[in-house]
Amino acid sequence: MKDSGKMNPKDALGVAKNPHCCVPLTVLAELGVAMMEGSRKYGRHNYRCTDIRASIYYDAARRHLDAWWEGEDIDKDSGIHHLIKAIASLTVCRDGEIQGKLYDDRPPKTPAVFYKHLAKITKGVIEKYPNEVKPYINKKPDYWTWSFCTDCIVKIANADEYSTVKLCKKCSLS
Ligand SMILES: [Zn+2]
Repeated sequence: MKDSGKMNPKDALGVAKNPHCCVPLTVLAELGVAMMEGSRKYGRHNYRCTDIRASIYYDAARRHLDAWWEGEDIDKDSGIHHLIKAIASLTVCRDGEIQGKLYDDRPPKTPAVFYKHLAKITKGVIEKYPNEVKPYINKKPDYWTWSFCTDCIVKIANADEYSTVKLCKKCSLS
């Protein structure tokens, strides 16, 4: 179909509707499995019929996120990806918030001035050390598997954006 540039009336109405097409179905399918695990354990939509505590879901999401950040992909208990387990926890928490079922036991707010002050300190540190030393990471990014010379690898490691790196003649040809 060619794009005529004109929008038909049904499409014009459609754009204001819920944009399901923007959600990747891969993640949604995995989330379905994680939510089904919960439904097998506690009964489907159990969280709609009882108050849920914000701290419980925050802690669960953080545990899964932290395990993932520390290099573990799959939750040994369920066989489900840690990121999906975190998303499932947040899904229940947000649904509870929408449904008026969330018992909000978050702590009293930190005054905004604290973060303003911290941002000033952060800025000072970055100004003192403007060139970031390459981080030590678990897996090398793909571009390190290419055959760059040592000079170019240092240039890439110190650049904010890979696309801004000016490679030597030899490397830019490889
Ligand atoms: Zn080079």
